[in-house]
Amino acid sequence: MIDLRSDTLTRPTEAMRAAMARAEVGDDVYGEDPTVTALQERVAGLFGHEAALFTPTGSMANVLAVASVVQPGEEVLCESSAHIARAELGAHGAISGITMRTWTGERGRLDLAAIDGLHAPDMGPFFVRTAAVSVENTHNFAGGTVVAIDDLRDLRTWADTTGTRVHLDGARLWNAHVATGTPLADYGRIADVLAVCLSKGLGAPVGSLMVGSADAIAQARVRRKRMGGGMRQVGILAAAGAYALEHHVERLADDHAHARLLGEALGLDPADVDTNIVVVDRPDAASFVARAGEEGVRIAAVGPRAVRLVTHLDVSRADAERAAVVLSRLVAR
Ligand SMILES: *Cc1c(COP(=O)(O)O)cnc(C)c1O
Repeated sequence: MIDLRSDTLTRPTEAMRAAMARAEVGDDVYGEDPTVTALQERVAGLFGHEAALFTPTGSMANVLAVASVVQPGEEVLCESSAHIARAELGAHGAISGITMRTWTGERGRLDLAAIDGLHAPDMGPFFVRTAAVSVENTHNFAGGTVVAIDDLRDLRTWADTTGTRVHLDGARLWNAHVATGTPLADYGRIADVLAVCLSKGLGAPVGSLMVGSADAIAQARVRRKRMGGGMRQVGILAAAGAYALEHHVERLADDHAHARLLGEALGLDPADVDTNIVVVDRPDAASFVARAGEEGVRIAAVGPRAVRLVTHLDVSRADAERAAVVLSRLVAR
């Protein structure tokens, strides 16, 4: 089976497991796990921010990050197919008391005119105040699309003039970084607060981080514990993340090349495949997925008419080539 359903399916490599086994640990609720502390400092540094917090999932990192810039009863603006809107099961409303309004961007892109149109300043007891804009980069359900750094810089300028905060859902920001060459610190600069995942393309079994100011992280540390996310000798997991940052970032370029191969097999222009995700329109999504499965290629339906393929660490060049043959045959049928 070639499993292209998600880049969360990767299993830790032998070398990653060895790094985990060697990890020095302590009780991280006491702030005494040196491996976690080192990872947090390193990731904060990569983005030019003061501090970071290790979380079990990207969803928790997003919930903590958004809550650090949006108070209960305020709203965050995001793209209509954003992970925070669609795939976090209402956490921002259910847990944080935050509402959302959305714009719909061509391929998930930023639309500053739409954002400006939605933006609601503080009008006392009349309207919900827009506290923040959330941007997802790369954009998962839009097909791993990269949000242009110039658009992000324009958003930053707009946010500064309107007093709005910026949250960056960077679950796959590493992919955007490798695909464009934009330094991580440049992405850090446009955001007040970020969430990044180690458990997607980077191949760690567990782990994400919220990144932001020292104050925001201190608050998030309390909220994380309240949500049941205080973890003890979790350096064993942080070590996997540290290993991934060292060894699995540059290789994302291979995943991107493999995704272009698959996109082409499905009739897309390979230039439209930005990173490691391919989303194609298939009116017969469910049966297409079933037929691919019968031929040894597992893919996912992400809507009644949308199919998603994701390349990752456990998909070799040969796997991608074989999957491309199977899929192009199915498309031709
Ligand atoms: C995967 C993902 C997350 C976090 O997901 P978890 O499964 O909770 O780790 C957040 N944002 C985006 C865009 C994602 O793709």
